[in-house]
Amino acid sequence: MIVVRRKHELQAYSDQFKKNLKQTIWLHKQDPECSRFRKFTARVESHKLGDVEVSKQLEQYISKALARYHKDDWQKFYRKKGTNIEKCKEADTLPEYPTNEKATGGHSHLTRVASENRTIISKLNNVVEEIINQTRALRFFENILLIQRGAELVCARCGVTDLTPAIVKVMGQCGHLLGLECCKDNDCPVSGCSAYNREYQKLHGSTLVGSRLQWCSEHGSKIDEIIKLVRSIVNEKKEKVLIFAQWSESTDKLEEALVAANVPFSDLRKEATSSKTLQHFQNGTPPKKGAKVSEVLIMNIGDANASGR
Ligand SMILES: [Zn+2]
Ligand SMILES: [Zn+2]
Repeated sequence: MIVVRRKHELQAYSDQFKKNLKQTIWLHKQDPECSRFRKFTARVESHKLGDVEVSKQLEQYISKALARYHKDDWQKFYRKKGTNIEKCKEADTLPEYPTNEKATGGHSHLTRVASENRTIISKLNNVVEEIINQTRALRFFENILLIQRGAELVCARCGVTDLTPAIVKVMGQCGHLLGLECCKDNDCPVSGCSAYNREYQKLHGSTLVGSRLQWCSEHGSKIDEIIKLVRSIVNEKKEKVLIFAQWSESTDKLEEALVAANVPFSDLRKEATSSKTLQHFQNGTPPKKGAKVSEVLIMNIGDANASGR
């Protein structure tokens, strides 16, 4: 859940970035002499943002946005010059189309185009900061999840594989997963990562594994265990499985989990079709045309059908 939420947040900031980018590119094209946009892109392209994963992604956004530039892009950000605000409701939320007239207020030494560009680029810089924070947080949680799920662990610095939780640490600042050998320094050793991880911010893999037993899918740990058992009986022992369930509610949950795990099953709870269902199960024939043969049969305890009528 945390990872999904973090992904959404990162997506929201990326969308904001793309919107501001479109605007700044349009402004830049109106005033190509101004070096602000070029300075911004140079900072991204030189990978000096502190997180290479982020700067590579932003580089792609920039080159796509430049390729898609259109002279009418301003319409998304500005109202036509001289639009009567009283008459046009949509336009009243947008500022007026900027020209090379002098700006007002604190930017009176700049043209309106230059002043607008200055504002948008400072917004872009703020969004970049957020994207870096969100990317790091997401990376942190994804790596914890990898450890807890017993997935293959790879050192982000040297690329060594087959690491076990006992010999890795996850960096609290940047989220990188590193082998013990590679995380002795506090400066993150991953190329292009500027994070500084203090000792207490390096989480030892083995302390994260302790919670592996508590880790479970959205179906709950008991149902996870049942699914595991069912799979091993069906796939490894090649035998059929009878599940006796007492409560209708928990049986429904179990069935949801079986569907999610892609395990075909039959349910004897439906009175009208129960004897046919049983026959198909015994004969190893599919319950419906085109359906898979179920190796799993669910019966309710206390249900007359369960006694094999
Ligand atoms: Zn390493
Ligand atoms: Zn790092």
